[in-house]
Amino acid sequence: MLKEISRKKCIHVMLVYTGGCNGCDIEVVNCVLSPFYDVEQYNVFLTWNPREADILIVTGCVTKATTAALKKIYEEMPNPKAVVAAGACALMGGVYGNIGADLGTSDFIDGPVKNIIPVDVNVPGCPPRPEDVITGVVKALPKLLEK
Ligand code: SF4
Repeated sequence: MLKEISRKKCIHVMLVYTGGCNGCDIEVVNCVLSPFYDVEQYNVFLTWNPREADILIVTGCVTKATTAALKKIYEEMPNPKAVVAAGACALMGGVYGNIGADLGTSDFIDGPVKNIIPVDVNVPGCPPRPEDVITGVVKALPKLLEK
């Protein structure tokens, strides 16, 4: 009940790191916490509780060690919900996708993110610019209006 009311007033974004260099995470947090971008002024907040999250931003190549946790977080989010895959690693493995080089793909990676959970918006870049992360969140908003 309280959550339903608060969902009409603001957007809660959860950031999940699944293996990478953390460059994408810094830019996502930059969107919310830096005075330059400050999306909190538009009632967009970070949360670390999947039950409060409307939009899941996933960074990283999804290592096998994080796959189960990513699935669980996605399942615990209430409907309607949206997923934004942010960064080259999340979209296609990035530098980790070919970590085995001529020896083949890595045995340690299950990603990219679309292999694990449904992705609604792709935000490219290595790392993506904060402006592009914010655009990705805006593109995900219509999904939250679906029943
Ligand atoms: S996409 Fe680039 S910046 Fe983001 S986690 Fe991968 S290597 Fe780091």
